[in-house]
Amino acid sequence: MESGTSNPTRRSRLIVLAGPTAVGKGTVAADVRRTHPEVWLSVSATTRPPRPGEENGVHYWFVSDQEFDAMIEKGDLLEWAVVHKAARYGTPRGPVDLALASGHPAMLEIDLQGARQVRETMPDALFVFLKPPSWDELVRRLVGRGTESEAERERRLETARAELAAESEFDVTIVNHEVHAAAEQLVALMVGSNSS
Ligand code: 5GP
Repeated sequence: MESGTSNPTRRSRLIVLAGPTAVGKGTVAADVRRTHPEVWLSVSATTRPPRPGEENGVHYWFVSDQEFDAMIEKGDLLEWAVVHKAARYGTPRGPVDLALASGHPAMLEIDLQGARQVRETMPDALFVFLKPPSWDELVRRLVGRGTESEAERERRLETARAELAAESEFDVTIVNHEVHAAAEQLVALMVGSNSS
């Protein structure tokens, strides 16, 4: 399915947003939060170091390898994965449960491996795939943001090829031609999501 609003097969209050590197998942999620502050966005834990401007507890929980191990052992993570062969990322379980219990639409912005794990444990979630308008545009965005080394960019593009091939696993595809339009399509899915 190519449209974000046309008849998704399943609706739920938990939205899982995935898609290849540099497609703009974070920017789209931030736009949703800006225009719809009632939407709760999960803050992931990661072992990668912060980029300039990133704040602990806002963009990520920046944790050590030992802290991440402890979270796994205690069962504190709803899902986790090694992303781009570089660092571990995971979704703290407690805040997701709290957000869902409080009745707010909740959103996870995670990679494909994580989305597959959530599909196993929370099959009623709505799985949304954010896709670039084209491969060339994806490369342009990744190079343009300039936050990765050449080697890191190559690694991310390799992962992106595999991720793009997984589109059919998702309930809905949104093409990110323009951030606000993509965010509005995402919100339309939440508004239509079941509230039981
Ligand atoms: P970045 O390092 O650019 O912030 O994120 C790299 C990738 O990690 C992105 O594709 C992002 O979706 C993914 N990611 C962020 N948080 C999580 C998480 O909690 N779990 C999983 N599985 N992937 C995540």
